[in-house]
Amino acid sequence: MNDLFEFSAEEQTGHTSQKNWIVLSVEDNQPYQDVLESALQEITFDGRKIELLKASSAASAATILSKREDIGLILLDIVMETDDAGFYLIDTIRNVIGDELVRIVVLTGQPGVKPHDKAISEYNISEYWNKTDLSADKLKSVVVSNLRTWQISQELKIARRGLQMIVDASRALTARQDTTEFAHTVLEEIARVINVPDTGGIVCIVKSGIESLQLAPIVAASSHFRELMDARLETIFSLYNDERKMRVEKAIFDAWQSQQHVFENDFTLLFFDTSEHDGRQYLMLVDSPYSLDSNHLNLLQAFAENISSGFINQALMNKLSQLAYLDTTTSIHNRNWLARELNQQSSFQLNNSSLVLFRLLDYDTAEMMAGHENATKMFKTFCNFIKNQFPDHYLLAVWNKETIALVFTLENKPSPDALQKIRTTPMEMDELDIQLQFQVGSIDFRDTQSLNLAEVLVLADTALGKARSLGINIYNFDYELIQRLANRMRVLSALKSALTTRESFFLVLQPKVELATGKPIGFEALLRWRMEDNSLCPPSEFIPIAEASGLSLEISEMVLAKTIETIQQLQQAGYALPVSFNLANSDVVSPLIFNEINRCIDEHDIDASLLDIEVTETQATEDYTVINPLLRSFIDKGVGVSIDDFGTGYSSLSQLADLAATTIKLDQKFVNDLTAENSEKTLHIIQMIARLAERFDFKLVAEGVETEEQRQLLIDNGYHHAQGYYFAKPMPIEQLLNWLSQKIH
Ligand code: C2E
Ligand code: MG
Ligand code: MG
Repeated sequence: MNDLFEFSAEEQTGHTSQKNWIVLSVEDNQPYQDVLESALQEITFDGRKIELLKASSAASAATILSKREDIGLILLDIVMETDDAGFYLIDTIRNVIGDELVRIVVLTGQPGVKPHDKAISEYNISEYWNKTDLSADKLKSVVVSNLRTWQISQELKIARRGLQMIVDASRALTARQDTTEFAHTVLEEIARVINVPDTGGIVCIVKSGIESLQLAPIVAASSHFRELMDARLETIFSLYNDERKMRVEKAIFDAWQSQQHVFENDFTLLFFDTSEHDGRQYLMLVDSPYSLDSNHLNLLQAFAENISSGFINQALMNKLSQLAYLDTTTSIHNRNWLARELNQQSSFQLNNSSLVLFRLLDYDTAEMMAGHENATKMFKTFCNFIKNQFPDHYLLAVWNKETIALVFTLENKPSPDALQKIRTTPMEMDELDIQLQFQVGSIDFRDTQSLNLAEVLVLADTALGKARSLGINIYNFDYELIQRLANRMRVLSALKSALTTRESFFLVLQPKVELATGKPIGFEALLRWRMEDNSLCPPSEFIPIAEASGLSLEISEMVLAKTIETIQQLQQAGYALPVSFNLANSDVVSPLIFNEINRCIDEHDIDASLLDIEVTETQATEDYTVINPLLRSFIDKGVGVSIDDFGTGYSSLSQLADLAATTIKLDQKFVNDLTAENSEKTLHIIQMIARLAERFDFKLVAEGVETEEQRQLLIDNGYHHAQGYYFAKPMPIEQLLNWLSQKIH
């Protein structure tokens, strides 16, 4: 470190600048200040004069100091308004203003008053002088050496800040930062570090083994080189006279050959090698309008080492991000990249953008028929085609193996007509015109504002899937659909986490009663889910979502376990009545749940007749051949099977005879319609169902009875049992036990 900042003997090496060195004299002795001023007036070094600012009290000095950053040296008298006013000032400078660097030379007129050593080290006082000992020459050397030291520490501070920025820059590699941008930052920082604001610089990429160095592309350029951006290295020479051109050219060649930095007084060549990671080498020419002194050269050298690791980091990061953000088959950015890019958009930009997905149809078939390689080739052709048809996009990425995503601003978003047109435009593959079928889905980000980006992307997938199943080729995901899907997604993720503990789920029980007497004959277990905000999510909302997401088995198992528990609780309280539970549609076909039911009955030693399985009419009839034998085996075991919502799928009436069931539950829609206008048809249906039930020996329960009138009508038409708010609402077990005790005892 020491030799790095050794002072050079001669003073002319530095560049000239208009700026003066600023010295502040704090002194209540006016004549002495005038002496100082005239002594300092003569001094010039580094081509700069000395300007003396004068303060006659500690207070006025503090004011000046708080306003200026360019004061390098303070000549300070200690005894002023008070005996130690000077010390207070030093304290203020170091601890209040927070200037650690300004040099402070204490001058005193009283030979006896010398600041003690503690004060010297504590306040970082540079020197202490007795005024009478300070000749004009001595003063000059004290001032010059202190100002130099200040300048160096100032530069170090800037360099340190610069280094930090470089390190930060190479660490905080964001999406937009690539090597070029990094090189730009470096050029800017160099100008700052060597304190020459109009330093010009270029960075070019030289590949090892390139034919001619002259042709190396310039990837970053600053100041007077700015217009050379993207040009070739050779163009740089047009800016120089012959002499300089020769020197620079030779140095460039030397730097490249020796793979070393080359430092000259008026320009510097820095060489950076990242070829191990990305096959690149960089040459950076720093062209200073002034000769750089050795301090600056040293600084630059120290800086170069840091930049070097910055370049390597950058190259590594580039490589990493290439791996992480590139679709390897097409060499187009992938979906992760797109997500990252979109994340970096301002919300204003995003709300003015639209994501458009182009999905190749029948990709899987193509892959099966023509092989993977041909299928990817087809997809590549497709990607190129889309890319060329819509050059106005601002982001483009491969979404999945058959879909490409483009992002447009709203004004550039392709119109439905344009989309329709290109759907029939042939593409060229292997010099043949081919016609590929594809589907388009678009989503405007302004419609998705309640969602985070990850959700939007999942949603886009879901929506495209929906469009696919509907056979729609050009599909705009509208606001309402997005909100609906968004809500589903939120419910799903909450559901997933709730299912890990099962604590927020509980059963409510609704009595089934004798219509004539209101006496309970059994109960239906209905699931409730208390969400985090304490509200109850209705099963009609979360069960379908669970089913669509493969979570229904998990739910059915939980409901089964809780139902068994309920049966035991009721039994313990003296109520040996059957409890039915609902099976989700998708679980009925799964032997898993039936095995589980068997296991539970055996394990808990439950009387099979106390358990009743509710399956919907649609389930029972749709997968009739699979389900019927399974249900039959339960019936044989004594377990009840109820056909829920009966009557909503009329077709089943003909299969009724064979249906493996013990009970049918008349759908509440009929009960409701019974008391509405034009109820003759309904009446007819419920009569017919009652007759069929009787004939095939099914128990019959009417659902959703809410009024006395309905109860009466049902009795009149051959119904004996029912369930509904008129008798009791679904309730938690404690409440049910209460209700039962009033009903029965
Ligand atoms: P469901 O099996 O037909 O259940 C009857 C529904 O009607 C229950 O709604 C019940 O609270 C309601 N209900 C009872 N009496 C009346 C009445 O007088 N008037 C009216 N308007 N409604 C009445 P809930 O509990 O909201 O359940 C809705 C559906 O969700 C159930 O229809 C069932 O399909 C499903 N579900 C409920 N619990 C579960 C479960 O544990 N597993 C499965 N897979 N599905 C369940
Ligand atoms: Mg039910
Ligand atoms: Mg029902």
